[in-house]
Amino acid sequence: MYFPRPFLAALSNAVLPPLLAIQVVLASSLAEQMSSVLTFIVFCLFFQIMLPRTPPWDRWVILVSGAAIGMAVFAQPYLPVGTLSDAFAGPAISLPIGAFCLLVMGKRLTGMAELHLHSPVTGGRFLVIQGGASRFLNHHLKCLHIPNLRGQLYGVDIVAAGRLGLQTRKVWPRSLDDFWIYGHPLLSPVTGQVSAASDGADDQALGASDRTAPLGNYVCIQCDDPDSGRVEVCLAHLRKGSVSVAKGDVVKIGQLVGEIGNSGNSSDPHLHIHVHRPDGSGNPLSGDPIPFRFQGVRVLRRNRVFTIPD
Ligand SMILES: [Zn+2]
Repeated sequence: MYFPRPFLAALSNAVLPPLLAIQVVLASSLAEQMSSVLTFIVFCLFFQIMLPRTPPWDRWVILVSGAAIGMAVFAQPYLPVGTLSDAFAGPAISLPIGAFCLLVMGKRLTGMAELHLHSPVTGGRFLVIQGGASRFLNHHLKCLHIPNLRGQLYGVDIVAAGRLGLQTRKVWPRSLDDFWIYGHPLLSPVTGQVSAASDGADDQALGASDRTAPLGNYVCIQCDDPDSGRVEVCLAHLRKGSVSVAKGDVVKIGQLVGEIGNSGNSSDPHLHIHVHRPDGSGNPLSGDPIPFRFQGVRVLRRNRVFTIPD
């Protein structure tokens, strides 16, 4: 049975910060209260980095919960001091988690010039669900030691965050059409020549995925960059029957090349994009990976939210 991860994310964003705030409000000593405040701060940071966001209201929940904590602290100025174990119980867990969050956030892809692409999606608010320089934020980095997959190392996965910040039109999605990103127009992020285009793979049912053909339907576009030389931009998991270009076509920035779908190794509809230096084998997943970002958008790390007008 398919359990929708976007629903789980929305639920956790709505419920977890208030639960942590209640812990502060119910504290029976100053030591317990301060320990709970620290736990609240660290875990909210953890949720914002690790769990899929539901922008923008996920941050409002944290702000309101924080305001409730502030009022509780001012309303209880004469709490007993409490014991040492009260004071250390929370930080023993939250401080290592806080250090982990800062470490993960501080990681940067280094060693290669970053390519600036145009966004392949416009007309909405989008959310990065996999991306960044830590394998805790970007599952593509797990391909580091697999030569025929290493080209997608700095890949990024993107979904649309529609009304209420949800990835889906319904709270509990039942079909691919319930996802805002499904069928969204996909635009070429560069001017170049189509080096590979594949269509005809079925869109996977929710929760299923095809590991034998991980990219599903895809379009690869090659162009020359002053720093990196010949590069190839690969756009994958396209909707069956939507690919509108063929190998050899010259495409311009912003030209329609297909629609976002759920083909290949994709359990929920999303766009996969990576850039690599092709190794001549014709494999869109091999070669040297190249970091990239979209013009006007900061580092494409998990939970980066960006809005691109039409
Ligand atoms: Zn991907």
